[in-house]
Amino acid sequence: MASSPGEYGFGDVDLPAPGPRQVVVDVVASALNHLDLWLRAGMPAPKALPIVPGCDGAGVVAALGPGPTRWQVGDEVVINPSFACGHCPDCVADRSVFCPEFGIMGEHRWGAHGRSVVVGEANLVARPAGRTWEEAGAYGLCGLTAYRMLRRARLRTGETLLVIGAGGGVATAALVLGQRMGARVFATSRHPAKRARAVALGALDAFASDAKVPVKADVVVDSAGGATWATAMSALRPGGRLVICGGTGGSKVELNLPRLFFGQYEVIGSTLGTFAEFEQLTALVTGGLPVVVDSVYPLAEYPAALDRLAAGDQFGKVVLLHR
Ligand SMILES: [Zn+2]
Repeated sequence: MASSPGEYGFGDVDLPAPGPRQVVVDVVASALNHLDLWLRAGMPAPKALPIVPGCDGAGVVAALGPGPTRWQVGDEVVINPSFACGHCPDCVADRSVFCPEFGIMGEHRWGAHGRSVVVGEANLVARPAGRTWEEAGAYGLCGLTAYRMLRRARLRTGETLLVIGAGGGVATAALVLGQRMGARVFATSRHPAKRARAVALGALDAFASDAKVPVKADVVVDSAGGATWATAMSALRPGGRLVICGGTGGSKVELNLPRLFFGQYEVIGSTLGTFAEFEQLTALVTGGLPVVVDSVYPLAEYPAALDRLAAGDQFGKVVLLHR
């Protein structure tokens, strides 16, 4: 990639040598995220080029940095898409999302859309047993984001959850996680086929995005933002919580303050998750949590995979197979 905004291109780059507490992972499967599209548009512009994109990946440990590590060459692992310093007060208290060095693989460090990637050993978990490479490479960023959103919104068994925009990676993860947490889950989508998929995945019903939603929810998950704000706010029951992790649909909204305080609503921002939350999510995946894969492309067809994501027609994760 020569400049940003710019285009991705294939090329050979020297892999940095792994430092202490770092390992080299040969990537078997990685997944695309909207961040890949944002970076291409220069939002944000990478601090240095070239950059290897890719927040999500799973593969095999190929080399170890100097010093002790809990990993061995040959271990099958999944990469936690977020990293942090590991020793500041926030990291020690499992609030790594507030660490001054908090960052995302593929944005602040070279990511997983290459043959190999250098990763901090704390950023790895063992590949969930019984899950495919595609699933292992796909659940990270969106699953972690959705898991923390539902925790921050304090979703409880028996509550009603409305997921806006079924089909997106975070929305699809929230749909399956909400069920696993014992909620009654509903969804919205502009597309009839995606509404049908949401119901097939266990949603009790799915509604058109442009009509009034006929349920009132304790928790609404909105990973798109902007255009869906009014729908999301109007679906809250008194005391309901709206949790937001994205602004792809628009970064500014109008907030009706009397509605906010008379309804005693909460609007909660959330992004990614902590190391403990990634471990908990991985345990859920090991226990059979569905990981919805939309499509799988060979790494060489990365541009076509990006186009699939940019078109917004996917339901679940777009995955790259590296071998
Ligand atoms: Zn820290």
